[in-house]
Parts: sequence; structure tokens; C-alpha cells
Amino acid sequence: MRASPMRPKNGGDVNAQAKSSKLISGATGEWEVVIGLEVHARIMSQSKLFSGASTAYGGDPNAHVSLVDAGMPGMLPVINEYCVEQAIRTGLGLNAKINTYSVFDRKNYFYPDLPQGYQISQYQYPIVGEGEIDVELEDGEVVTIGIERLHLEQDAGKSIHEERSKKSLVDLNRSGVALMEIVSKPDLRSAEEAGAYISKIRTIVQYLETCDGNMDEGSLKADVNVSVRKPGEPLGTRCEIKNVNSVRFIMQAIEYEANRQIDLLERGEEIEQQTRRFNSETGKTTKMRGKEDAHDYRYFPDPDLLPLEIEESRIEEIRQSLPELPDAKKRRFMTELGLSDYDAGVLTADKPSAEYFETVAQGRDPKLAANWIMGDLFGALNKADLEIEASPVKADQLGALLDLIGDQTISGKIAKQVFQIMFETGGDPVKIVEDQGLKQVTDTGAIEAEIDKIIAANPDQVAQVKEKPKAIGWFVGQVMQATGGKANPQAVNQILKEKLGLDG
Ligand code: ADP
Ligand code: MG
Repeated sequence: MRASPMRPKNGGDVNAQAKSSKLISGATGEWEVVIGLEVHARIMSQSKLFSGASTAYGGDPNAHVSLVDAGMPGMLPVINEYCVEQAIRTGLGLNAKINTYSVFDRKNYFYPDLPQGYQISQYQYPIVGEGEIDVELEDGEVVTIGIERLHLEQDAGKSIHEERSKKSLVDLNRSGVALMEIVSKPDLRSAEEAGAYISKIRTIVQYLETCDGNMDEGSLKADVNVSVRKPGEPLGTRCEIKNVNSVRFIMQAIEYEANRQIDLLERGEEIEQQTRRFNSETGKTTKMRGKEDAHDYRYFPDPDLLPLEIEESRIEEIRQSLPELPDAKKRRFMTELGLSDYDAGVLTADKPSAEYFETVAQGRDPKLAANWIMGDLFGALNKADLEIEASPVKADQLGALLDLIGDQTISGKIAKQVFQIMFETGGDPVKIVEDQGLKQVTDTGAIEAEIDKIIAANPDQVAQVKEKPKAIGWFVGQVMQATGGKANPQAVNQILKEKLGLDG
């Protein structure tokens, strides 16, 4: 996902207008929407949370299933240290408190894709406690969203309902894969805030390489809790919309659900606490079941697993090893490289874009690099529906193109042409310029010859330009046309002024 380069450019001024626009007006006055997200992020690891089976996505059904993942009686789970470290890394990235003591619990429920009959999760003592992240909105306003906790748990398998044979099958490849559940405080106030929040979470885990953030493959998804209230009143009863797997759907689900609840309340009805699902085809949420409470799951500490105790020194080591995170990178792009708030925001919104930019800007004008990436490159990628990782123009090739402009081998205008060819063919800029004879003409003799011809052929224009020096633009145009756009514009201007007897 690439941040839209069409984001409005006004800065971070927070005004009452922006705040009140988050309210929804109903027949009985204004309503405030309250949202909390439970984000499930699949951990990037080779093997599962409590077994050595592979976590590879895809593959034949039940190809990556150990006896532990299949819930065979008497099998013992063994904690995957790497997954624990990934959770700590993520907690640190969310500016959260890491708990040196945490406990794995059994959350009991029956589901055909959960052969154990319970999910190993964390309940009372999660590995990560409270934290917070800053989220930037379209208009530049920054809101701070509280994190309640992050805990580790197992993913479930997948039921497959075959239409043809009328049979239900189960694929346990995903069973036991490590998930991080990141629970927000009910701090979000609009669909836009929720969309920006999950996008920021996604950016952070991608920078950390703790989760690939791929929402299409279900690596990142959210349970969306929504309630409404009159401003200033206590929290209303919430409904939880399960498993929403795109930013757009999360935003649509919130819009629909908030309005549904407002309608009910304005008709004098009550909100029943429910678990609901979002239908992306209708854009509506529908009831799955009345909400279950924690006691329904009869959580208890898993007797097969010891409490997790982590040394402070280990946490410090992990903290030291964290990469530069998006907020810090954005600040650096602004203070050290002189990019605008807007440009720095777009270029750090995802890691591949930031890396691409850093390669191009290395030893070159950062502002020029940013303009080319956000203008020509993003434009071409959008049109071709490609992610930046799949760009036919690699970062070092774009860098080489900028060098050709820098040393005046080609003009900026010709460079646009060369870029298009590079994008279509994946070719090297130096070779394209060579092969297609696009080198800028700086040979003043050749330019002079063209100018002499044009002056001789256009006496009327010559008379005019003496009256109105601005009309020189017409001559520049003629020379450019005659040289196929390859004449060095500075040289053209200078020689024209001399020959036409203009000052400057
Ligand atoms: P559960 O596991 O039962 O769904 P939690 O109590 O941990 O429960 O809450 C889950 C999420 O619901 C959290 O993200 C929290 O911020 C959010 N939440 C809690 N109360 C409300 C409310 N009244 N309106 C909207 N969201 C809420
Ligand atoms: Mg929940």
C-alpha cells in the first residue's frame, strides 16, 4: 500500500471545526462515535508459536501440521523464543511497557478448526502492557492513540465448505501460527482515525519486520468495536465486528455500524452487545451472535507452559537493535534532508518507499529525488497498478537518471521522456540516452547555426522582440523544436539574447 501522493498539503493546525466534524448529526443532536480496535498481526517467523512446523503461507492443505498443531492428546507445546522476541520488538515499537512476567492461558471454545478445543492465549498477564502511538490524519492533525496491551496467541486452522460435495473440510496449516493481538484503548473517534491507526500499526510492524502486514493474505486484520454516545456521556454499549481485513472495509464497517446504532437509539431502542460481521458486498454489518463474555471461555493458566519470565537486560538488547522507526525517519528526512512535512510523511508511510528514496537521495539533491519519486514514479506505478517493490525502474537507475540531469547530459524535459522509456523497458538511462541520441546539445556552434537560420527567416518576429523582450520565448521554442528539445536551454537563452541585442 502506497500513501496517496494526493494528500492535501495543509499543515498540522487543529481547529474546533476539524474536531466537531468527527461528530455525526442525528435527529436528536450530535453523536460521538467511539471505536477500539483489536488488531491481529501474524508474526513473521519460520516456525509456529509452540511447534516446529513451518509457517509458510499457501502450500497443500495440512502440509505444515505437527502433532501439537493437530491437537493430538498428550502433545506438549514448546515456546518459540523468536516469536517472543518479535512480540517484545513490536511492544517497544508501540512505545509500550514490556512485562517481564507473563502467563499463557487456555481460552476454551469449540470450533472445528480448533482441534485442541482451546486456544493458547494470554489473558490476565500479557507480555506487553500499555503504550501509545501518534497517528496523523489527512488534514495534518495528529492524534495520540492509547494501546491497552499486546498479547501472544495461536492462530486457528481454516474450515473449507465444499459446495460440490457438500462436505466440510479442515486445513490446519495455519493452526498454531503465532499471532500478536494489539488491543487499543477506546480512543478512536471516527472511521478516518481508525483507518489511519491501523495503517500506522501496519507501517510500524513492517519497519520492525515482525509482521508482513499483508492484509490480503490475512496477516493483519482487526476486530472493530463500535459504540456511540452523546458528547460528554459515559461510554455506550458496543458491538464488535469480527475479522475485517482491509483498511477500507474497516472504515466502511464503522460508518455503517455507527449510523445503525444512532438510528436505533433515536427510535428509543437499546443497543444489544453483539458480535457482528461485515459484508463487503453490501457494506453492511449483520448480527452473528450475542456477545460472549470472558467468563464464557473459562480462561485458566495452561498447565503445560511455565510463566514467561524475561530479563530486563534482554529487553534492553532488543531495544538497542530496533531499526529507525517511521516517526524518527520522517523527522530526519525533514531536519537533515530538508523535505517538507508532507513529502517526508508520504515517503516514510511504507518501508519500501523510504528505502527507495534513501537510495536515490544518497549523494544527490534530496528534494529533487523526492519530486521524481512522488511525481513521475508514483504516477507511473499507480497507472500500472504496481507496488514500488515491483517497479521496473530501480532506485539506482532513477539515481543514474538524476545524475544525467545534474551533469547537463540531458535536460529535465528530456529526462521525463527517458523515464517513460525506462519504465516501459526497464532499461538503463545512460544507454537509452546514448542509443536514442537524446544528449543535450551544449555545442554552442550548433545552437548558433540554428538561431541564425531562425532569425534570418523571421524578420517580423525579430522586430517584435526588440519592442517586447518577453517575446523571446517564441524564439526559444523554435530552437527547441529545431533541435528536438535537446538544446541546452541556458545556452539557447544566452545566445539568443546576444544575437537579438537584448540585455542580460
Ligand atoms: P473483548 O476481548 O471482550 O472484546 P476488551 O474489553 O479487551 O474485550 O475490549 C476490546 C476492545 O473494545 C478494546 O479495543 C476496547 O478499546 C474496545 N472498547 C471497549 N469498550 C468500548 C466501547 N464502549 N465502545 C467502543 N469500543 C470499546
Ligand atoms: Mg474482542
